[in-house]
Amino acid sequence: MVRTMPDLPRILIVEDEAPIVRFLKASLAAEGYRLDVAETGKQALMMIHSQPPDLLSLDLGLPDMDGADIIDQVRQWSRLPILILSARDQEKDKISALDRGADDYLTKPFSVGELLARLRVALRHQARQSAAGDQPAALFQSGDLLVDLDKRRVTVAGDEVHLTPIEYRLLTVLIAHVGKVLTHHMLLREVWGPGHAEESHQLRVHMANLRRKIEIHPTQPRHILTEQGVGYRFADANPECGQQA
Ligand code: CA
Repeated sequence: MVRTMPDLPRILIVEDEAPIVRFLKASLAAEGYRLDVAETGKQALMMIHSQPPDLLSLDLGLPDMDGADIIDQVRQWSRLPILILSARDQEKDKISALDRGADDYLTKPFSVGELLARLRVALRHQARQSAAGDQPAALFQSGDLLVDLDKRRVTVAGDEVHLTPIEYRLLTVLIAHVGKVLTHHMLLREVWGPGHAEESHQLRVHMANLRRKIEIHPTQPRHILTEQGVGYRFADANPECGQQA
C-alpha cells in the first residue's frame, strides 16, 4: 500500500554497476520513490549540491573516488540520510563508512524487502530529527520499555528498573538514534568520551548488564539488536507511531 505523502521522497542512487542500478530503479520506482542516478563520485557531489536528495544510496566502490570521501564531504554541511550499498563485505569498510557519518549499510546481494525496510527507517529517522529539532522527546516508549528522560526513570512492563549512570547513558544514546546502527567506536565516544575508543570490552560488559535489565530474554533481545562485528541498533519497534509524545 502506498500512502499519500505531500512530497514523494527523492533518492539519489550513486552506483556504477548497471545491473544494480536497474534493480534499484525497478524496486524503488514501484514504491513511488523519485530517483536520480549518478555513476561517478564527481557527478554525485554535483547533483547533491545542486538539488539535495532526501536520501543518498551510496556505493563505496566508485570508478573515480572512494564512496567514503563522499560521506566526508556531504557531512560537512548536510545530515541527509546516507545508506551504504557495498559489495565489499569486509567489516572495516562498513564500519569506517558508518564512523564517517553514514546512517546504515546493506551488503550486496540484498533483497528488495531489506532495502525498502532500511530506506523507511532512514527516512523516518530523518523526519523525527527534523520534527524534534534534535531535542529528544521527554517520554520514549518502545513496546514494554518506557523511558522518562526528564525524570531519568526507566520502566519495563510497568516495573521500574535501576540503571547505573553508564547504562542509562548507553540507553539514551541508543534511543536517540532509533533504527540506526551505531558502531562500537561511536558508542564509546558518545558514552565515555573521546579517547576511549579502544575500550570495547567495557562496552560489551555494560551492554550485557543493560540488556539483562531491560530485555525480557537478554539472549534474544528485542530492543537492543547486535550488528555482528559492527555495533548495535535500537530496534524501530513502533514505526507508525512516529514522534513520541
Ligand atoms: Ca561499484
